[in-house]
Amino acid sequence: MNLIVLGPPGAGKGTQAKIIEDALGLVQLSTGDMLRAAARAGTEIGLQAKEIMDRGDLVSDDIVIAIVADRIRQPDCKNGFILDGFPRTLQQAAALDQLLTEQNKSLSAVIELKVEDAALIERISGRFTCSDCGEGYHDSFKKPRIDGQCDKCGGTEFTRRPDDNAETVRNRLMNYYRDTSPLLGYYFCQNKLKSVDGMAAIDDVAKEIKGVLSSLRG
Ligand code: ADP
Ligand code: AMP
Repeated sequence: MNLIVLGPPGAGKGTQAKIIEDALGLVQLSTGDMLRAAARAGTEIGLQAKEIMDRGDLVSDDIVIAIVADRIRQPDCKNGFILDGFPRTLQQAAALDQLLTEQNKSLSAVIELKVEDAALIERISGRFTCSDCGEGYHDSFKKPRIDGQCDKCGGTEFTRRPDDNAETVRNRLMNYYRDTSPLLGYYFCQNKLKSVDGMAAIDDVAKEIKGVLSSLRG
């Protein structure tokens, strides 16, 4: 099964992609995580991307398409993947269609997380992640069970993203409405779009997505 999780910044794409990854044995492919890893590694592309990401703008289509093309050819993607944060433009969506066709693969569904704008700002302002394993948390909605300790790996260091600040979030949201939201129509017309209520609690959203996915497997 090959899936896309689509929605504005802070909608819960990464959170849900990780739950599906664990439940169904698919691989989560987050272009944001890949670009942040490239920036940490100090590669030329990573450093260029970091400047753009810190402003909340979109990295060029050529760069992200090349990264995804390389990644979905890896053997661990054979049993299926969940794209999180890609595609973000119609050009990227068209390139993905071509890549999948070339590799004899197809898209099973595009899960849209519908979340109100005010909730997005609240979710992004409270987001932090474990520095060791990347598990995501929130100051109010998903606190570690033991304060200061990661539920998953026991790590005690946490990070907040530099682009998760009020000003950059508004720019990211504008970019979403301008460049990414047209993908809803694109996938609706391909009969792939499945919309879920992203305003519900994390576990309830996950349940709704699992219901959608089991109806696909029929
Ligand atoms: P995205 O990958 O779409 O940018 P994340 O999955 O990182 O979003 O979620 C953004 C923040 O909101 C995180 O801190 C996460 O813990 C929290 N969050 C995710 N889903 C929900 C939800 N359904 N209700 C409340 N908070 C949520
Ligand atoms: P994310 O982790 O999905 O919130 O992405 C963080 C940032 O990485 C975005 O604001 C963009 O600058 C960049 N980025 C991630 N994925 C893409 C993509 N598919 N196309 C362009 N830029 C991207």
